[in-house]
Amino acid sequence: MGSAELPATPQEEELDALIASVVPGVGAGERALVARALNLVEDRRPEARPTVAALLRALGAGRPNGHRIGLTGPPGVGKSTLVSTLAADLRSRGHTVGVLAVDPSSKRSGGALLGDRARIDTDPGDQGLFVRSLATAGELGGLARAAPAAVLVLAAAFDRVLVETVGVGQSETDVEHVVDTVVFVVQPGSGDALQFLKAGIMEIPDVLVVNKSDMGEAATRARAELAGVLRIARGAGLAGAPLDGGSDVILVSATRGDGIDKLVETLERHRAAQTAAGALAERRVRGQVEWGLRELLRRIGDEGVGREGGLEAARARIEAQVRRGTGPF
Ligand code: GDP
Repeated sequence: MGSAELPATPQEEELDALIASVVPGVGAGERALVARALNLVEDRRPEARPTVAALLRALGAGRPNGHRIGLTGPPGVGKSTLVSTLAADLRSRGHTVGVLAVDPSSKRSGGALLGDRARIDTDPGDQGLFVRSLATAGELGGLARAAPAAVLVLAAAFDRVLVETVGVGQSETDVEHVVDTVVFVVQPGSGDALQFLKAGIMEIPDVLVVNKSDMGEAATRARAELAGVLRIARGAGLAGAPLDGGSDVILVSATRGDGIDKLVETLERHRAAQTAAGALAERRVRGQVEWGLRELLRRIGDEGVGREGGLEAARARIEAQVRRGTGPF
């Protein structure tokens, strides 16, 4: 008897039924089913892994879909406010929007939900807008372990996905692996431009935003400062070429809505330029490989990876899986 004729185990049947009940609704952006899929992928128990992997494969992980935009920067610069304003603007253009707020302060029980209400201002009646918080619960690196999978779910469901992270330690570099466009947000007068250079993350952001333009001259000065830092970094080969069509340091006021049009245009242009150059698919592959490698290291450690042929061999295996569309999750 060939394996195709073997009766499916109850587990496989359950898995198939689960996926059949969740995937079409997620693809259609139904919020209740998106929430259900997110609950599934947040389950990090080893026994949940086959379900998570099957679900993500069924959702078409890695296929071009919603534009994933990461917003990062120090606390207090107005990221949450900007996410609310940007989400409302994208909705008014007819895009559906999913928001993932990565919250390092809250623990899993209740805090994350409260966070949704307190930090991101949304219209609960709007079916085209979905907000979810992920608690990092003390994990190193700023982004929750479930974030890459959660972003894949949201990108299967919505036209635009906004990932808000808090600028602590590594989250700026982590977010790069899960989004298509990284936006770094600073505010006037905080010296963030210099901090930013010191932290050595100059090569990461695709778009730089100075928020709180309503603060007037201090804001224009911050923009000039940042543009100067950017020029130096580019001269030293540390930052990518400017996007065509002008400055990529954008002055906005999240509270007044000033400059949001310009920001949206820049985001669209970044996405279009990446798609045209074939860079988007490559970036997504690289991001998935990076996360797959981290997961492997978490599970089996350096020694385990060593026993299996070393880091580069592991990377090559994961990359092959990602390119086949079967991994790494
Ligand atoms: P986050 O910690 O980066 O998410 O920052 P929040 O969105 O919580 O904002 C921090 C503070 O800055 C809040 O008091 C906001 O009202 C304020 N804020 C946000 N955007 C603006 C802006 O465009 N102009 C001004 N003047 N204040 C802003």
